[in-house]
Amino acid sequence: MSSEKEAALAAVPNDSPTIFDKIIKKEIPSTVVYEDEKVLAFRDINPQAPTHILIIPKVKDGLTGLSKAEERHVEILGYLLYVAKVIAKQEGLEDGYRVVINDGPKGCQSVYHIHVHLLGGRQMNWPAG
Ligand code: ADP
Repeated sequence: MSSEKEAALAAVPNDSPTIFDKIIKKEIPSTVVYEDEKVLAFRDINPQAPTHILIIPKVKDGLTGLSKAEERHVEILGYLLYVAKVIAKQEGLEDGYRVVINDGPKGCQSVYHIHVHLLGGRQMNWPAG
């Protein structure tokens, strides 16, 4: 079993603070590529492509994952995708890229603070694994 799958099956899907809160507070280091008042984007510690960036809301507001989305989250959900596009341009991914949100154990989610994966710099395959 892949380590990502093991981590996803071991993860507890609740609203407790996650490692991403520590990254937001700069209590643990990360390579930040974009930051504003609403979101933080940083390089994934275990990259699955030459460019692999995570984009997260600074305030989780119950949005542990996409399946917990409520109407009040519509604006931040759209903004996360918009920032993915801004960063893709910043990273020079003009030939294309992939945006992924894993949800729940079967979606291979391991951190319960919603995040958008931005992957690029290589040819992607389909269907995703
Ligand atoms: P998966 O582990 O299956 O990719 P998620 O979609 O929940 O599940 O993604 C969490 C991501 O967070 C993983 O890609 C993982 O490598 C990344 N990650 C975990 N800890 C850190 C960290 N300290 N800094 C950067 N990325 C991290």
